[in-house]
Amino acid sequence: MLGENEAEASQSSSEVATHKPGGVQTTVKLPGIIDNRRYSLLSTGKTTNGVTSISANCLLCKGGKTIHGDTKSSGNFIKHLRAVHPTQHDEYKKRKSQPPTDETQPSMKKLCSVLSVTSGKTKRADHLVMMYIVNDMRPLSTVSSPAFRCMIRGLCQSPDMQIMCRKTLQIQINTYYDEIVSALSLKLKSLDYLCLTADCWSSHARAFLGVTCHWIRTFPENQEC
Ligand SMILES: [Zn+2]
Repeated sequence: MLGENEAEASQSSSEVATHKPGGVQTTVKLPGIIDNRRYSLLSTGKTTNGVTSISANCLLCKGGKTIHGDTKSSGNFIKHLRAVHPTQHDEYKKRKSQPPTDETQPSMKKLCSVLSVTSGKTKRADHLVMMYIVNDMRPLSTVSSPAFRCMIRGLCQSPDMQIMCRKTLQIQINTYYDEIVSALSLKLKSLDYLCLTADCWSSHARAFLGVTCHWIRTFPENQEC
């Protein structure tokens, strides 16, 4: 393939935990090109003779593109860069040919601080956290828990990622609520008939009222509730 493969294999910059059958967790070294700037790791596959297959997403392609390779060779990743993103390929080659500095491999923390994808990742993580808090009715203070914040950063592989505070979460939930209410109102306005049922209950000394709404729509939207 490419003579760059062997050299690249020694340029591993980050590690990722994988689970083997039987629940054993191991870590694999990723090729240096999977740096969350050009490529981000999608998944790891089978490990044979110490080589693990990996799939990564090209962050430079509009809409992303999945490239497959393994931990010992990054030829496919380099090939894609050379063919589709020549400027990035030149920059990559230039950087590789430079003598190593004190900090040969940039830490994940440093990488994240310059990544343009970080803000998108943060937004997505914040949204997923909000959905978790709402759907599982967790207290808003969940986002203040150091262990929870650590878990989110770990799952996102972004040690430096900003996670929303409790106040921001509250604002986001209110905004989301307004969005849902207006979307539902719009939908209900277009109906001729609907059926309402209600239920009341109490829990932990608090009273609740649940209202369920059913309606029937004509084809292609057969039924919604
Ligand atoms: Zn690409």
